[in-house]
Amino acid sequence: MSTRAGIVVTGTEVLTGRVADRNGPWLADQLRVLGVDVSHVVVVGDRPADLHAALTFLAATDASLVITSGGLGPTADDLTADVVGEFQGRASAVDPALEARIAVIVDDLVARRGWRTDTAATAAGVAKQARVPHGATVLEPVGTAPGLVVPPGEGRSGPTILVLPGPPPELQGMWPAAVAADAVQRALAGRSELRQETIRLWGTLEAQLAVTLREHERELADLEITTCLRDGELEIVTRFAPAAQPAYDRLGDLISEHYADTLFSTGPTLDELVAIAFADRGLTVATAESCTGGLLAARLTAWPGSSAWVLGGVTAYANSAKEQLLDVPGTMLAEHGAVSAEVAAALADGARVRLGADVGVGITGIAGPGGGTPEKPVGTVHLCVSGPEGQEARSLVLPGSRTAVRERSVTRAMHLLRHLLAGGPPA
Ligand code: ATP
Ligand code: MG
Repeated sequence: MSTRAGIVVTGTEVLTGRVADRNGPWLADQLRVLGVDVSHVVVVGDRPADLHAALTFLAATDASLVITSGGLGPTADDLTADVVGEFQGRASAVDPALEARIAVIVDDLVARRGWRTDTAATAAGVAKQARVPHGATVLEPVGTAPGLVVPPGEGRSGPTILVLPGPPPELQGMWPAAVAADAVQRALAGRSELRQETIRLWGTLEAQLAVTLREHERELADLEITTCLRDGELEIVTRFAPAAQPAYDRLGDLISEHYADTLFSTGPTLDELVAIAFADRGLTVATAESCTGGLLAARLTAWPGSSAWVLGGVTAYANSAKEQLLDVPGTMLAEHGAVSAEVAAALADGARVRLGADVGVGITGIAGPGGGTPEKPVGTVHLCVSGPEGQEARSLVLPGSRTAVRERSVTRAMHLLRHLLAGGPPA
């Protein structure tokens, strides 16, 4: 049986959705790499009773480690250390040496930022952050708050609790020391390697794949297969023990056999494939975007090192910009309208010629919610990729909100680039 862990993310700002949780997913991924299975991620507000209830719930699972994030600051709503200490049956007291170390960090911070502070209040905050449950291991602060490893108290059983700060850079910075701590290593003893592989299909329905998986249920029994449909891409993530590698190889064969026409990756993401294709082929790209307003250029340049192949992009929203910056003929705009296959092709060529790139991409469409007509409803998008070996174009009517139409248009354009440069299933 694999070693399991639970995660409690604390913070009313996370619970209410004002701040999107970045710690739960990050910790879950780190634990997966270590071969630890995450059973639950629980989000609670800054209320001691709710944190206590979450710990009670996770202690009743088979988790040998529970990780908390947040609530370690100097203010009154930061209660995690005390609640965890009490939960484990360990009384907390100020650790004077730790208090002195935190005081130095806080003084330094105050001096650098030029803050005016109330000495008594600062000292009280420092003392609060230096409270350590008896027998806990202290993890040195990355910001001002120390982390803690709190095993169950004398004569008790249950999970060891790893207490980490809320700000993601602090939590991530403390992670190596947390994992190295003896008490955490003891809690994770007996863990075994868990492999994770991803296969990506473009245009296969989840229900269709489910049929294939059901037909071969027995051969694939040792695999934990999860499928996720995102923007038309079906992501198949499989986790398995090393001994189940032959079963995974069988899954790979089955998918190649049944879904050769949609299988575009047995690992890398779409963005990675496009980046690799540009780098391998030594080609450059320029974009001309209307309804996506530069989102494609942003996605291409999000890749580190993309300056080697991305020359630039033009956001040409108005007709005048399309004419002046990308040489789209005024007569074409008048005859076919800005949202047309002709204009998408002219945008792609304009980007290519004006920026001197090998490949040009043109996108024009109606993202909505307004602006649709019976002939050109909201979601109408024309895409064109023009390269040294010719053009690929698509005319689509995409469903969803303004945001969804824009994002899906960009994903389709990325698939067109992938297909044009690297082959594989059509976009
Ligand atoms: P601080 O000393 O800053 O108070 P803390 O350990 O008490 O540290 P929190 O008060 O819980 O941490 O969070 C501080 C800030 O860190 C939050 O306002 C939020 O911006 C960010 N943060 C906390 N938890 C998360 C999370 N799960 N995901 C993303 N950001 C978070
Ligand atoms: Mg706080």
